[in-house]
Amino acid sequence: MDSHPECLFCKIVARAAPAQIVYHDEWVTAFRDIHPAAPVHVLIVPNRHVAGLNELAEAGTDLAARLLLAAADVAHREGVHQSGYRVIINTGADSGQIVLHLHLHLIGGQHMRYPIG
Ligand code: 5GP
Ligand code: ZN
Repeated sequence: MDSHPECLFCKIVARAAPAQIVYHDEWVTAFRDIHPAAPVHVLIVPNRHVAGLNELAEAGTDLAARLLLAAADVAHREGVHQSGYRVIINTGADSGQIVLHLHLHLIGGQHMRYPIG
């Protein structure tokens, strides 16, 4: 199934829940995190429901590539491609993943320490 009726990010992709969408195409949708961790904090999600990184192989390499390329594109649009940014994919309980629809956190606009946590 491509869309899960109870999934928050499926609803945002379908415009059935509000979000500040900054980019979309036939593969991915990108919108501002509701609780930004930095001046730029955008979530990039596949338009079809994929639970997490562990399930991405089943969705195919094209989608994997589209997600990464969209992250770089959004970084450019948000003006952080030169200053730098971080892309995070939380996966599973230890990572703190809350929303079970794959999402790339694009974070930037300030200097970040590494590692985190
Ligand atoms: P996770 O911990 O699953 O990797 O991150 C989920 C992210 O989704 C969090 O950073 C959280 O702030 C964000 N989030 C949760 N609910 C909403 C929402 O309704 N709208 C938006 N735009 N972001 C959300
Ligand atoms: Zn979903």
